[in-house]
Amino acid sequence: MFTSLSDRLTATFKNLRGKGRLSESDVNATVRDIRLALLDADVSLPVVKAFTHAVRERALGAEVSGALNPGQQVVKIVNEELVGILGGQTRTIEFAKNPPTVIMLAGLQGAGKTTLAGKLARWLKEQGHTPILVAADLQRPNAVTQLEVVGERAGVPVFAPERGNIGGHDAVGPTGEGTRSFGDPVSVSRAGIEQARRAQHDVVIVDTAGRLAVDANLMQQAADIRAAIEPDEVLFVIDAMIGQAAVETALAFQAGVDFTGVVLSKLDGDARGGAALSVASVTGRPIMFASTGEGVKDFEVFHPDRMASRILD
Ligand code: GDP
Repeated sequence: MFTSLSDRLTATFKNLRGKGRLSESDVNATVRDIRLALLDADVSLPVVKAFTHAVRERALGAEVSGALNPGQQVVKIVNEELVGILGGQTRTIEFAKNPPTVIMLAGLQGAGKTTLAGKLARWLKEQGHTPILVAADLQRPNAVTQLEVVGERAGVPVFAPERGNIGGHDAVGPTGEGTRSFGDPVSVSRAGIEQARRAQHDVVIVDTAGRLAVDANLMQQAADIRAAIEPDEVLFVIDAMIGQAAVETALAFQAGVDFTGVVLSKLDGDARGGAALSVASVTGRPIMFASTGEGVKDFEVFHPDRMASRILD
């Protein structure tokens, strides 16, 4: 992903690098090229406008520093502005003072939430945490089984209602500790957190249901779960391949449930990806992680500065 954006920007900067002095028309031409490259990569229009405005103002006003020629100075400005769009500082999970830390996953069906749950759990486990996964996606018949498979791959336990009772009553927890009523996602989430407390898991990851498109029921269910479990982090998982719809979807989820961070999934794809890069900027929420494949290890902490360098390399 981002190869074409990266190639375009690199070509733009190539023309600049050797220049001893930059005229206003050099700056304008460069800013125009950057604008087209960003738009072609699907970066959202308001983000492109703010970005190119900032680059132009800074480039025209830039003092030539001793170490950098004017062309390099512009590249540095573009890099800094890109890091800003991508959220600035690296930020990952903030753990609760009193465990367990509760992390809720939200997003459309197919966004990659369940896959992400496994990756995140594995990553946490590697750092010495003792996560448990909670299957609160009771919408799709296969979702619970899928989470169990994912949990097994990650070597992490999964709390789920019993098959026959999905959507019904009286399910039994994974340890068989008793019969209780948790056939709906809110009760399953609550029971999962109770289970985490009992078994001393320090992180709970709650996988919630998605729909193919944003709808009122989906938002209400996610908002109800959020209100009931008061998660420390709500991660919004977005498929970077969905193009322009990424921004719209993110704004809908922000209005409906709100979230504390973003996970970009399917960054291994060959889509243009710029819309996903706009999500941090339009929502003001940091991109925390990137999913880069179907395997449990295809996961990385998102570093805005490294991503900017990768794009401008
Ligand atoms: P959910 O409905 O949000 O829980 O989405 P899933 O986790 O079930 O993922 C939907 C599909 O996308 C599955 O076939 C996953 O294997 C696939 N998938 C998830 N994350 C990635 C990723 O980062 N890269 C690729 N290539 N596929 C992914």
